[in-house]
Amino acid sequence: MTFGHFGPAMPQSSILDPRSSALDPQSSVLQATLRVTEIFFSLQGETSRVGLPTVFVRLTGCPLRCGYCDTAYAFYGGKTMTLAAILSEVAQHAPRYVTVTGGEPLAQKNCHALLKELCDRGYSVSLETSGAVDVSQVDRRVSKILDLKTPGSGECDKNRWTNLDHLTAHDEIKFVLCDEADYRWAKQVLAERRLDRICPVLFSPSYHDLPPRTLAEWILRDRLPVRLQVQLHKQLWGEGPGR
Ligand code: SF4
Repeated sequence: MTFGHFGPAMPQSSILDPRSSALDPQSSVLQATLRVTEIFFSLQGETSRVGLPTVFVRLTGCPLRCGYCDTAYAFYGGKTMTLAAILSEVAQHAPRYVTVTGGEPLAQKNCHALLKELCDRGYSVSLETSGAVDVSQVDRRVSKILDLKTPGSGECDKNRWTNLDHLTAHDEIKFVLCDEADYRWAKQVLAERRLDRICPVLFSPSYHDLPPRTLAEWILRDRLPVRLQVQLHKQLWGEGPGR
């Protein structure tokens, strides 16, 4: 497989951080466990990394219940895996990009150790998080994709606004919009908090609720400094696990 101008995955042995616990597979860090719903290799369907071959690690569990959630199968179940086992399965795909997602991955405290270990191995790591959980302790090498929940999600009161203080230019803020009321709300938050000065901002239409073309027209009409995001994986493969 070719990766265009992004180049092939680097040999992991050449980029291993010498402080990494990968040098000691029996280390207590690598024996820590996480509940995992699925690990799979696909094209990134969202964010500025859209289209890039990526390994996804989907952790189990989420404290929220957004009305449009497309990963409810990750609320329960999954299997318990050590960090060593997760890292081994990731490495089998020899990826350059790894995304840790959920559910809400930060609902499990060992997620932080996983993120650090992935970064230590030289992967380019992103984290998809609901915005409802503290992100201040996330490894700074990780690109955080932080949701801001709109009124239409049903979980707007869960937004942890102090998370915005912990974002940098390599992070991204995402709104999933259900209708015009959501759009107006997001537009106001964007302006009041000057979000586009923090990092890229994504406006994504809720798959079953808002036509992408309608959202595109609103963004152009109002000249908003945001990126329209359409979920590539659903265009390619429809809905369902493992994609
Ligand atoms: S935060 Fe994400 S995983 Fe959790 S309910 Fe909302 S959309 Fe689903």
